[in-house]
Amino acid sequence: VQVQAQVQRTVLLAAPRSFCAGVERAIEVVERTLAGADRPVYVRKQIVHNRHVVADLETRGAVFVEELDEVPDGATVVFSAHGVAPQVRADASARGLRVVDATCPLVTKVHAEARRFAGRGDTVVLVGHAGHEEVDGTLGEAPDRMVLVESAADVAALRVDDPGRVSYLTQTTLAVDEVGEVVDALRDRFPALRGPGSDDICYATTNRQEAVAAVARDADLVLVVGSANSSNSVRLVELARRLGTPAHLIDDASELDPAWLAGARVIGLSAGASAPPRLVEEVIAALREHGPLTVRERRVAAEHQQFALPSTVRP
Ligand code: SF4
Repeated sequence: VQVQAQVQRTVLLAAPRSFCAGVERAIEVVERTLAGADRPVYVRKQIVHNRHVVADLETRGAVFVEELDEVPDGATVVFSAHGVAPQVRADASARGLRVVDATCPLVTKVHAEARRFAGRGDTVVLVGHAGHEEVDGTLGEAPDRMVLVESAADVAALRVDDPGRVSYLTQTTLAVDEVGEVVDALRDRFPALRGPGSDDICYATTNRQEAVAAVARDADLVLVVGSANSSNSVRLVELARRLGTPAHLIDDASELDPAWLAGARVIGLSAGASAPPRLVEEVIAALREHGPLTVRERRVAAEHQQFALPSTVRP
């Protein structure tokens, strides 16, 4: 009797992957607010861009809304990790809402830069994706002085008051290589261009991109756990593909398509900064069902970043 040998596969686990300090903090802010509340806790927008995180907090009592007009007067509302425009804060205050702010401190830093650059009279070019909540919030700091560009092609079409007074900022979760091209295009057009003191692309985004690149180069297939609206997760998939490796974004193990595994001996596995670690474990378990698996972690950076909780929820 001939027994067909099962394919032996290797999973290269990218590290760092999964939750960043800003996401852990935002989830803890909601958990602590829920624990201290005897009334519903509203959360404006998804607290982080992950379907599982949102569903889990919903079962524990959080009520997710799109805008403040869905929040009753006097209620508690949490602002998401992506930050809000000053107008949203003003509206919340005018409505007498109790605000708990889960904005990631690294997003808050970009808001402060936007105010500073706009305050000195610059046209502030924000590199980012139209419609993303973080971008809407940052642009809200100085709507009359800020413009959004998404690509180097957008730079060519820019109109500014004074080419000698232009500065730039970026969304925190962009692809490092792509932003470099846009900033080069900006500097070509505006040689006096000024930028942030240190990169706006956050440490977690940078590290996850380096890690996924390190596994993609040796993999036949890359899987990234994350939700479709998670900017940093989508960037990981795109980066793996730019390096020539087929890559897929999956929300969880149930979205794993066995057809992808045909011919794939080495599978790179990562997760966006908003995707819970347990989902990665579940993908590994699902892969084991298709044959023997060796799991090896490839770490490109250590992460020790932690952010203090906002004073409103500190014990
Ligand atoms: Fe903060 Fe970066 Fe995490 Fe976004 S991805 S929450 S900016 S640490």
